[in-house]
Amino acid sequence: MIIAIDGPAASGKGTLGKMLAAHYGLRHLDTGLIYRAVAKALIDAGNRPDDETAAVAAARALDPAQFDETTLKTHQIGEAASVVSALPAVRAALLAFQRDFAARPPGAVLDGRDIGTVICPHADVKIYVTAAPEVRARRRAAEYRAQGKIVDEAEVLADIRRRDARDSTRLAAPLKQAPDAHLLDTTNMDISTAVRAAIDIVEAIRAGRGRG
Ligand code: C5P
Repeated sequence: MIIAIDGPAASGKGTLGKMLAAHYGLRHLDTGLIYRAVAKALIDAGNRPDDETAAVAAARALDPAQFDETTLKTHQIGEAASVVSALPAVRAALLAFQRDFAARPPGAVLDGRDIGTVICPHADVKIYVTAAPEVRARRRAAEYRAQGKIVDEAEVLADIRRRDARDSTRLAAPLKQAPDAHLLDTTNMDISTAVRAAIDIVEAIRAGRGRG
């Protein structure tokens, strides 16, 4: 089974992806980490995030086994990743890896921006996770505070709105809900309620297939 989860920054798709994968015994790929790793490689080498040649080289040299979430999940790398990921050649260089990951048995949960639309258009289940920008900003700010960082929630909200706009309006694989994706709005849900709702979606699709 392949489950595709897409949604904007801080919508909870990463946590949902991890928990769905554990629930169904599937492998999990947070595809945002791939773009973040490319961005970090560029920053570390002193290159700009929109340097397409350097970015493609970095994308081809990636070793996902070496990904370190703590260093990749910073605000600065997220911003740079959003720039890097708008480059079509970078997306093309990362396509086969993501598709191969999804295809290996017993299947996988992939979360990102274009999983249901580009990477796995034939996924068994597609979920588009979203939440009001203010709620996403509050969650992201709480994460930063838990890491001991001082946060200005209004600034976090402005960043989220900017990233949403960049990810949704780019020409290459923009963030959008696939026509056959199930919408999961987590604005008024805590994580366990959201996981339950996502499992209900998966189960409804499986039951429907069983009947059909
Ligand atoms: O999900 P996360 O915030 O870690 O992603 C970082 C950035 O990587 C996003 O803002 C987006 O621009 C990009 N991305 C993407 N396609 C994906 C996953 C992430 O363009 N499938």
